[in-house]
Parts: sequence; C-alpha cells; structure tokens
Amino acid sequence: MSITQNIEEIRGRMAQAAVRSGRKPEDVLLIAVTKLHEPGEIEEAIAAGVTDIAENKVQEIQKKFDQIHSPVNWHLIGHLQTNKVKYIIDKVVMIHSVDSVHLAQEIDKRAAAAGKTMDVLLQVNAAHEESKFGLDPKDVPQVFREILDSCPNVKIRGLMHIAPWSEDPEEIRPYFKEVKDLFDTLAAVEHPNADFKYLSMGMSHDFETAIEEGANIIRVGTSIFGERDYSKKMGGM
Ligand SMILES: *Cc1c(COP(=O)(O)O)cnc(C)c1O
Repeated sequence: MSITQNIEEIRGRMAQAAVRSGRKPEDVLLIAVTKLHEPGEIEEAIAAGVTDIAENKVQEIQKKFDQIHSPVNWHLIGHLQTNKVKYIIDKVVMIHSVDSVHLAQEIDKRAAAAGKTMDVLLQVNAAHEESKFGLDPKDVPQVFREILDSCPNVKIRGLMHIAPWSEDPEEIRPYFKEVKDLFDTLAAVEHPNADFKYLSMGMSHDFETAIEEGANIIRVGTSIFGERDYSKKMGGM
C-alpha cells in the first residue's frame, strides 16, 4: 500500500475508535512520525492531508526543516538535552518530551529570547520502564507546579505517554487510563501557563486503545511509512 492509502486506512480506524470513546473523528489529531524517512515520503504524507509531523531527534529536525517546502507543523517527541533546545526553539510548535524542571527552564529562557511562548507536554512514564524517559506519575504534580511557577514563557498543554510494547492491548490499557486520570486532575488546575488540551498517546500498534482511553493526539510512524531502516541512522545525537 502507498503512504496515501495507509493514511486513509489509519484515519478510518481513528474515526471508529473516536466514536467508540464518545468523540468525533476530528477530535483526534494524527501526527506523522517521520524519523528516518526521506523528504519525498514526508511530502507525500502532507499531500494526503497530514498537517503535523514529528521527529525524535533535534539533528533530524535541523536537517529536514528546510527540505520540506509544504506548510506543516513540526513537533519534537524524543528526549531533549538542554544544550540542544536552542536549535529547535524557532522550529517546533510543541515539545512533547519535557521531563524535568531544569529542561523547562532552559526552554523558558530560549523562548523568552525568541520572543515567544513554547507549548509543551510533560512526558509520563506510567509503566516505570527503565529504557524510557519520562516522569514517574507520582512526581508529575510537583514538577507541573514548579514549571508553572518558574517558566513564564512555557505553556503546559497536556501530557505525553509511550506505552510498553505489547501484543495484547488489554495489557497496556491500564497505563492509558492512569495517564488520562492524571490529565483530568491537572486539567482542573487554573493557572495562566496551564492550558490543558492535549493527551499525546498511541503509536502504530496501540493507537486505537489509546484513543478509546482518551488520547487526542496519536503519533504514528510505521503504519504510515513502513518499517524504519535503522542502518540509515546517523551517529552522534
Ligand atoms: C518512533 C516514535 C513513534 C512512532 O512509532 P511507530 O511505532 O513507528 O508508530 C511515536 N512516538 C515516539 C516518541 C517515537 O519515538
């Protein structure tokens, strides 16, 4: 199947999952994860209606940013080192991977210098996987508070979660539920720099379950573009 056909098929499955969770198809945003894919493939996805794309590495955003000519929103979804914030502050619409006050403060500093406010999500590691970044759910409220109190140029828009890989969606459904509960708790807090709207969870293998449990952003790579060729992976970052 082509990239265009894959996107149509995913949109159909997204719409059904949205309806199962009592929402409308247009309430869920599809972000195409373009890591290790070529500009031509990315342009095909945009032509098929994709409005938002995501990379997990700063270096790939730097490399591809000027190669994509169609208008599109860029997101950073991978671990971000403080010394790299300056390279993407003017390129991305949202950073999904904020997992410390220290990182938020660097984003705040760079956003202020660029004369903007940066939208961020707090990354939660609900399954406590050692191999993944993200905050322990129990630490999220404290980090949330500290960022609100110290980062006037950062707006917290919601939470991001990466579920463990599992063949059985029922095994990971509890993690999605836990993150949604946390989302609802924090969404009730009133603060000028907290504007909770986005719950970013769900990837190729689990996006229907994530949507059923309340996700309104899904990040899909493989199901759109096919398997990634990791031999193309660049060194360094
Ligand atoms: C690569 C990646 C995805 C997409 O994963 P697929 O299984 O290819 O859909 C989603 N989120 C993050 C954070 C990723 O790094």
